[in-house]
Amino acid sequence: MNIDTKCVHAGGYHDTQTRGINTPIFTSSAYEYLDSETRLYQRYFNTPNQEAVVKKICELEGAEDGVVFSSGMAAISTSLLALLNSGDHAVVQDEIYGGSHAFIEDHFKRLGISFTFVRMDAQAIEDAITSNTKIIYIESPTNPLLNVVDIRRIAEIGKRRGVLTVIDNTFATPINQNPFSLGIDVIIHSGTKYLGGHSDLYCGVAVTRKDIAARIRKTAANFGGSLNAMSCYLLERSLKTLSIRVERQTQNALGIARFLEKHVEVERVNYPGLESHSGYKIASSQMSGFGAMLSFELKDTTAIDFMRRLRIIKPALSLGGVDTTICDPATTSHQKVSGDVRKRLGISDNLLRLSVGIESVEDLIEDLQHALEG
Ligand SMILES: *Cc1c(COP(=O)(O)O)cnc(C)c1O
Repeated sequence: MNIDTKCVHAGGYHDTQTRGINTPIFTSSAYEYLDSETRLYQRYFNTPNQEAVVKKICELEGAEDGVVFSSGMAAISTSLLALLNSGDHAVVQDEIYGGSHAFIEDHFKRLGISFTFVRMDAQAIEDAITSNTKIIYIESPTNPLLNVVDIRRIAEIGKRRGVLTVIDNTFATPINQNPFSLGIDVIIHSGTKYLGGHSDLYCGVAVTRKDIAARIRKTAANFGGSLNAMSCYLLERSLKTLSIRVERQTQNALGIARFLEKHVEVERVNYPGLESHSGYKIASSQMSGFGAMLSFELKDTTAIDFMRRLRIIKPALSLGGVDTTICDPATTSHQKVSGDVRKRLGISDNLLRLSVGIESVEDLIEDLQHALEG
């Protein structure tokens, strides 16, 4: 099956009782157990709605098994702690989601897990591996500069050195990037973003091989961050339109990136689909589409003034929804990062991050043009 067809038909629950074509919402938190092999319980990740949606995501990513969580951070924290023990070492790309960065900094040391943050370069990552390294953790493209890491090379390094590779594939989605086909071991998503896609659902997922999924599920049952039936259903429903949403969003993003790149009021555009972007070549070799996130730097206008002039695009946190949203990383995602570090990373006060939605690209460009030209 093609991925577009999988979005609609993969996974799900076959309702033999009513023959309805959608998965029913099973609200029970208590299931009878006499004469039954299984013990259904939401926190064991084995209820019908959880299994229906996990099966769909596994098929989209080409994974054997997975676990669906109550947030992206629940998926990230649980997976990392399931796969790392006291005494282990993790090599972590320095440019990752702020919440993941904070989780590692705040808790690994306390738990006896050592870690090295390295810049996103395959050689630097390999050089940081020690005899007790158990995980390489990466993200591509990154937030908010849309830098691209060579996933194939990282996966090859992991295999050669006997280290598990984990990727946060939130920005790319399974429509634009399939890390398993590039050799990665574990894929994590904040389902709050593109998988949910309507800015009304909070969830996360980790998908991988059977043996690794079993380890993650066991830890997850202890930590308790499972996803409820209603949200599982909403996620499953959203996934049916994932490919058409992301395709349209990706197309719009390229159009907007090309428009911004030519505009005199724009200093710089970061989008891996532009030939001028440093990650363009690698992105072309590992992504089937360049995604719908981009960022750009204004020349003269301040970020706040610019955002106040927008009429369609909403200044809002989070990303990946059908509505186009914008934010300035300096006062939002990277507010806690010192000015000096922000400068070194290339996150100026005039940088704006755009999450492109499914609206008409002409309307979006007109909105941006109006805001740029005051
Ligand atoms: C939002 C996000 C997360 C965290 O997900 P939550 O659902 O907010 O917990 C992790 N990684 C990336 C890349 C994200 O954008």
